[in-house]
Amino acid sequence: MRKVTIFGSTGSIGENTVDLISRDPSAYDVVALTGGRNVARLAEQAVALNADLAVTAFEDCFEELKALLAGTGVDVAAGASAVNEAAERPADWVMSAIVGAAGLMPGMKALEQGKTLALANKESLVTAGPILLGHAQTHNATVLPVDSEHSAVFQALVGEDIKSVERIIITASGGAFRDWDPKDLHKATLEDACTHPNWDMGQRITIDSASLFNKAMELIETKEFFGVRPDQIEAVVHPESLVHALVGFNDGALMAHLGAPDMRHAIGYALHWPDRAHIDVARLDLTQIATLNFRTADPDRYPALRLAREVMEAGGLAGAVFTAAKDAALDAFIARQIGFTDMAEVVDATLSTLSGEIAASGQLSLDSVLAADHLARKTAQNIIAAR
Ligand code: NAD
Ligand code: MG
Repeated sequence: MRKVTIFGSTGSIGENTVDLISRDPSAYDVVALTGGRNVARLAEQAVALNADLAVTAFEDCFEELKALLAGTGVDVAAGASAVNEAAERPADWVMSAIVGAAGLMPGMKALEQGKTLALANKESLVTAGPILLGHAQTHNATVLPVDSEHSAVFQALVGEDIKSVERIIITASGGAFRDWDPKDLHKATLEDACTHPNWDMGQRITIDSASLFNKAMELIETKEFFGVRPDQIEAVVHPESLVHALVGFNDGALMAHLGAPDMRHAIGYALHWPDRAHIDVARLDLTQIATLNFRTADPDRYPALRLAREVMEAGGLAGAVFTAAKDAALDAFIARQIGFTDMAEVVDATLSTLSGEIAASGQLSLDSVLAADHLARKTAQNIIAAR
């Protein structure tokens, strides 16, 4: 039996992971599940999967979780440090599916066991890519991408030499506003931004898909994960979301990865890697699909992509500043303090304000990344308050 732990089990990626694991319960020994405020669901999962430990990230949710799991034999804990401690329990395969910067530390801790980290939490790579991947190397651990585009690139690279790669193209659905006139985008409401044309995901990533901040993060994630230059990475809008990514080689060949927009593909690939296992998701019928469309990702419509280029070129702490500023701007948009197009302006202004700190980054350390995260959040909040 493989020992597995799922960080963020109650989220969209977490639920899909639980779904795959619960289809074959005799194959897995569930060590720990962690969630946030949805303790009812966390308790339900812990019982259904017979987990050893259930952790809520929030201390004020402890009593409720404890009551729900009384008499079940599942250990209960709460708080950010308890989430990190869950990463110390031996596991062969760990899913990192917490949303936001809170996903970094549990991922780092899990790597210290020298096993496999399935990485959905893209913020870890964007803020601290070299640290996370360096830590994996130090501890002889494997990091597998779970983001669908990066899983697609990873699969296209099996048996290939990264040196023969000319370019990596990741696709973007274009989000909720892909057919809106750019002049109207400032009017977009929270409700408008919370619907995704193709994928069913958590609220934050759905809004980030509408603004293309999600794609911006994925460009940076591509640079960090595959170690290619920024000018080798492109994004194209592909409304059908069936081609997830393409890898172009130096002989002109372009390898595309296609699949239904269902995260269980990428999660299942990471779960069974290096093998492939039967996964019961929809199969594509190419004659039904008939046409696939691709469009330029217009930088006027999507300023987040321009900012991603700046961040990739700057390197160092730019990714941490970018992620934290984006998070603060997203919080403010969700709280209806700022409008949809203000988010990119806030991130842009934060990057400019902290350009001196970014230029002086030097060798990244966990401390410098956490300090930059803190400073960028505060700076972005001040910029928001002054608007
Ligand atoms: P989600 O919001 O649905 O779930 C997030 C999970 O993290 C929940 O279990 C929540 O309880 C937990 N959580 C929230 N705040 C926390 C905190 N402070 N500390 C500890 N746990 C906390 O998010 P999601 O859509 O599943 O995305 C998870 C990650 O995977 C994100 O980094 C996202 O960018 C990435 N991702 C998601 C998808 C997708 O299809 N949903 C695809 C690719 C990548
Ligand atoms: Mg993705």
